[in-house]
Amino acid sequence: METPTSVSPEPPAFQPRWRDILALCDDDPIAGRVRAEQLGEIARSVPFGGGALLMLAVMVTAIFRHSPAFHGLLLWLAFMTGTLGYGLRQARMRRVHARETLPARAALAVAARALAIGAMWAAIFPALVSACDSHQRAALAGLHIAMISAGAFVFAGVPIAAFAFVGALIASLLLVMTMTGAPVSSFALVGIIGAMIARGVIAHARTIVSHVHAHERLRKRGDMIGMLLSEYERAGADWLWETDAEGRCTHLSPRFAEVIGQPVTHFLGHQIFDPERSQALNKDELATAIRARQTFRNIQVGPVVDRDQRWWSLSGTPRFDARGHFAGFTGVGSDVTEQRRAREQIERMATHDGLTGLANRAAIRGHIQAALDTARGGGGSAGCAVMMIDLDRFKGVNDTLGHHMGDELLREVARRLQASLRHGGAVARLGGDEFAVVLSGINPPTARAVAARIVDTLSEGYSIKGSAIRIGASVGIAIGPADGETIDDILRAADLALYRAKGDGRGVVRLYEPALHNDAEERRALETALRVALREDQFSLMFQPICDLGHGAVVGFEALLRWKHPVLGQVSPAKFIPIAEDLGLMDTIGEWVLRTACAWASRWPRHIGISVNLSPSQLINPRLPGLVLNALATHGVSPDRLELEVTESIFLNEDNNTRGALDQLSRLGVRIGLDDFGTGYSSLGYLRTTIFNTIKIDRCFVRDAIDGASQSAAIVRHIVGLAASLGMETVAEGAETIEEMNAVRDLGCGLVQGYFTGRPMAAEDALALVASLSMEARAA
Ligand code: C2E
Ligand code: MG
Ligand code: MG
Repeated sequence: METPTSVSPEPPAFQPRWRDILALCDDDPIAGRVRAEQLGEIARSVPFGGGALLMLAVMVTAIFRHSPAFHGLLLWLAFMTGTLGYGLRQARMRRVHARETLPARAALAVAARALAIGAMWAAIFPALVSACDSHQRAALAGLHIAMISAGAFVFAGVPIAAFAFVGALIASLLLVMTMTGAPVSSFALVGIIGAMIARGVIAHARTIVSHVHAHERLRKRGDMIGMLLSEYERAGADWLWETDAEGRCTHLSPRFAEVIGQPVTHFLGHQIFDPERSQALNKDELATAIRARQTFRNIQVGPVVDRDQRWWSLSGTPRFDARGHFAGFTGVGSDVTEQRRAREQIERMATHDGLTGLANRAAIRGHIQAALDTARGGGGSAGCAVMMIDLDRFKGVNDTLGHHMGDELLREVARRLQASLRHGGAVARLGGDEFAVVLSGINPPTARAVAARIVDTLSEGYSIKGSAIRIGASVGIAIGPADGETIDDILRAADLALYRAKGDGRGVVRLYEPALHNDAEERRALETALRVALREDQFSLMFQPICDLGHGAVVGFEALLRWKHPVLGQVSPAKFIPIAEDLGLMDTIGEWVLRTACAWASRWPRHIGISVNLSPSQLINPRLPGLVLNALATHGVSPDRLELEVTESIFLNEDNNTRGALDQLSRLGVRIGLDDFGTGYSSLGYLRTTIFNTIKIDRCFVRDAIDGASQSAAIVRHIVGLAASLGMETVAEGAETIEEMNAVRDLGCGLVQGYFTGRPMAAEDALALVASLSMEARAA
């Protein structure tokens, strides 16, 4: 964790003034420290400087041992010895009991002693000079100068003491020089010596004051840092740590113990960060930094604490003692386990499906790329197989048993998919009930076999929270790089194959083929065009006659939808109706068909019926009964003339209560026809339970019925018998020749609808036909 540091500007260097240098003010705490430092300085110089002074005093006494002043000198010597002895004792005590601050009187006392010693000698000196010969006088002058220097040295620490001592001696010297008529140059020399000594004393005093101030500033800063650190340790999320030169922990914030849940003492004295001994991940970087004794920042190590994998972020800097020897590391640490886990969780969410734990759509792309690269590198026929898997009937489970069960089912599907890939490969959930599998180094037949096994596995029964569930799966396969050079191409190819597989029924596996691409392109173009077709009046109806096989009369027409696209031309209903159904457009288009068909039928004789095809979505639309009634009423067509045709596919989804809808329509008085009978659902059971007025036998049976011994002939015969027993009529669809027509008549069919009796025709032609038939009937 980066902690921003603000750097405060350094204050300007301290410039001592006279009052700071003299340090005689008791109210100023810094002056007290300066005095302690000054007196400490004197204490250090007293043994040497004081000794020198005493020696000089002994020498002077020795020179004048025969002089009448000898006794006076002895007295002075005794006084000086006593004073310096006292000073020495004081100095020793100061060294032993150094004090941080001293009162002004301590400095004044030293100054008084210095003045006393200096003044006594200054008083004696002129008397001695007048009582000695010229040799003694020269020696005495030298000793006097030496005494000035020694005194300045001893008392330099306390400027007023130095000035008192030196001042007294220089005054006495000047007096003597005046008395003896010394030349002016000597006065100048003394002046220079005095000025030099004064300057030296002041410079020394300045150094002491600056030193004390600098020390004080550092102390304050240290106090501030200490305060901040203790606040940081107390309140912050991070902790401080310190090791000795051997890497043993010497300090740890209590905060650390809180985070780890173990007492600090547990770690003190131990090598907690020793990468060799601690069981931690990512420790090489730390080991390198510690060995190199380098500053390191935010190195993350992963120690195992109480069998729990933790993550610490450590920053540290090496410490060195005054002699430059390595003294250990000091640093901060923070427990970043939660942040790291959160980050890992986010990373995982970006690549994994939250429900099943499988790879997600983004992650599977990486697997496809890797498999594609392997396939390209392999050079053989084996490629990378991408399988798109879609669950059949999953929506029903979700809708009827609830989302919880649906989720549980998806988890189980994920488990089965993973288990089915025994020899490697990647599985992903792309969303909803769509999954993908990527396999490397595989050829199309093997991929198909694996997909078939997946379909079998997923189609086995499930038992989820006590409910038995059955679903299926459809699989589309694309093999890269043959079916797609890029990830997107191959995914699209697999998608197209899946689309085809779903279109071909349930539980189907389809391999991609280039034609699927064209189909998809065409379908997309049709989808766009269909959305505007109704608005732009591109639909029309054709009417195909339905005839009675007994006397050949037209008994009705089937309305057949036609779409003429301005560019594509006529588009077959077999092609566009399924698309319109998928797009959810058939409700609107169907309503238009119903109203238009009724409008034309209103212009036909009352005994001519009209058949209209219904899409499954129309049938389950609760608006349908109202709509039918409205169309009939609007055009004055009686309900029994209208036959609504449905196909067997409506029975595939029993959940939608198709039977209820059919019953409701029947109760309106309209007829219900079962279209394309024999092509879809294999059970005949629903024929017995649902009311149909007509069964339309699909053209595939009619075509083969000419051969009276064929299976188709037997089926038609059977259906006709069943229909008769249930009171239903039968229509033979698609009789193109007279032979086919005769064959279905012989098999018992009552009605026929086929090219032989009449092709689908324009509404006007149908109107003309019924008009001519009426005229014929009237003429007859
Ligand atoms: P369908 O309802 O079974 O209609 C009969 C289809 O058989 C018509 O095809 C018709 O032209 C064709 N046909 C009739 N006699 C013969 C014959 O002798 N030989 C051959 N080979 N074919 C014959 P069409 O018009 O192409 O319609 C195809 C399907 O489209 C219809 O089959 C019906 O399922 C659907 N369809 C047509 N119009 C509508 C509609 O308005 N709504 C709905 N939902 N579906 C419709
Ligand atoms: Mg039909
Ligand atoms: Mg049909």
